[in-house]
Amino acid sequence: FHESRVLDYTFLDASLDSWLQVMKRKLHDGEKAFIITANPEIVMQAERDPAYKRIVQKTKYLVPDGVGIQWASKRFHQPIRHVIPGIELTEQLLQEADQHGYRLLSYGAKPEVQERFYEVIRKRYPNIQWVGHIHGYIQDDEKQELMERCVKERPDLVLVGLGMPLQEQWIASVIDQVDKGIYIGVGGTFDVLSG
Ligand code: UDP
Repeated sequence: FHESRVLDYTFLDASLDSWLQVMKRKLHDGEKAFIITANPEIVMQAERDPAYKRIVQKTKYLVPDGVGIQWASKRFHQPIRHVIPGIELTEQLLQEADQHGYRLLSYGAKPEVQERFYEVIRKRYPNIQWVGHIHGYIQDDEKQELMERCVKERPDLVLVGLGMPLQEQWIASVIDQVDKGIYIGVGGTFDVLSG
């Protein structure tokens, strides 16, 4: 992976295939990872909010999502070659999960959207084992319970679609407590894939 520095952030520049190879290996080995697919809004939010900035800087897997980041990387003379649409990465991970019967937890979006997403994905990828499918408007105590569930039930793949900065904040609060799982902020992906 090639590193590209934009402002105070280190993006990894690699093809979708290379990203998938790394993530498939992690899934297979039961390792953990926190993936942020970052667009310019995420970088701008991080510049405004120091706590969020620490989260974005701490992740090892900062994926350039969208041409905005690519454009910025050229301005900083660290040109990024590969732009990875978060939704494509997510779909490929779901396919991989289906192939190996991995355990999935999906969290986020409106209740009816999350329900539809669950129905659509269950049909399309019947071998996925569901740890849970939870909409994105639960209360703080339920969020806490969800964290505890992640610790106990050890899902392989956790898709979090609360939009930024909520999704990264929630993942940051859970990632140090779990010992495995690919955790990825997926933004509006549930809305797209459910209809
Ligand atoms: N969302 C949520 N809980 C919240 C706020 C937002 O589940 O408290 C969901 C919202 O329903 C939508 C997603 O987060 O599905 C945000 O999508 P958006 O396209 O705004 O995110 P982006 O891709 O721009 O980060």
